[in-house]
Amino acid sequence: MKKSIFTTVLMLVFVTSFTATAQKKESKRHKVVEAVINNYKSDNNSAIYKLFDTEMQKAMPEDKTAEFFNNLRKNAGAIKNYSYLKKVSTFDLYKIEFEKATLQLNISINKNSKIDGFAFRPYVENKKIANVKTDLTLPFDDEWYVVWGGDTEDVNYHVILESQKGAFDCVILDSEDKSFKNDRSVNENFYCFGKKLYAPCKAEVIMAVDGIKDNIPGVMNNTFPTGNTVVLKTENNEYIYICHFKQFSVKVKQGDIVNRGDLLGLCGNSGRSSEAHLHFHIQNNEYQEHSNGLKAYFSNIFVNKNQELKYSPLRGDRIENNIVKK
Ligand SMILES: [Zn+2]
Repeated sequence: MKKSIFTTVLMLVFVTSFTATAQKKESKRHKVVEAVINNYKSDNNSAIYKLFDTEMQKAMPEDKTAEFFNNLRKNAGAIKNYSYLKKVSTFDLYKIEFEKATLQLNISINKNSKIDGFAFRPYVENKKIANVKTDLTLPFDDEWYVVWGGDTEDVNYHVILESQKGAFDCVILDSEDKSFKNDRSVNENFYCFGKKLYAPCKAEVIMAVDGIKDNIPGVMNNTFPTGNTVVLKTENNEYIYICHFKQFSVKVKQGDIVNRGDLLGLCGNSGRSSEAHLHFHIQNNEYQEHSNGLKAYFSNIFVNKNQELKYSPLRGDRIENNIVKK
């Protein structure tokens, strides 16, 4: 299948494509980061802005760039030290020690040595992710394909965000491993677009967003990253995020109690989504900024046609409930 990227972000990321195209030498990319750091140190916001590619400059005009970095200086202070961590997808990850905080910079630099995406987020040492306690059913009918899922960056780009360490993305593929038929410019041509999504367990709906329009495939909405979203609170106080629903398809509202298998809405292509897909993750608090991700396990499912009694989706799996839904 054509590789696409599905991302949900916390602070500030503008990336127009998930496809890994940046193949420039590492040292070239490090030089760009070095330039950002030096310009940060010398209060030269306009020089940082000039390092952005044109899409980024459109998304983050010069005055917004200045405002962002001035705020960063005010809140985090001067940069004392920085070190390279690793590459994840198109992003290079750096640990940056400021006077008042230690942050992680995730930065994507294109083949022309221009910045096409970046995010600052709290730096957290890698720690083992806890497992979900609640017994879960997959939130869909039929067989879906796991595009991203698993514990490591090579199979799951979500792991760079603490709250999404256990996230996975799914689509439906045809016999030729394609996620759409005919041309890919129409949402309705994607097999999972409009498919029913269900509650994976008994839970309380604590948030339901419904009004965000579906994207034209390939054009992402960075303003509302999660798109139309349902957040469910389980009886074990776990928070399940199901994202990118089709506009106006969400059937539940805040305060509703849903049972396993109740219809939540339809799969869509809203938010930071390059094509129709399901994003699913579980975290230990309501808000992403203050949460740790939990690893999702599903009971009694088929994984590549083999029965598994308790399983966490991994990139490349074809997964389906063993029990027929109502
Ligand atoms: Zn996702």
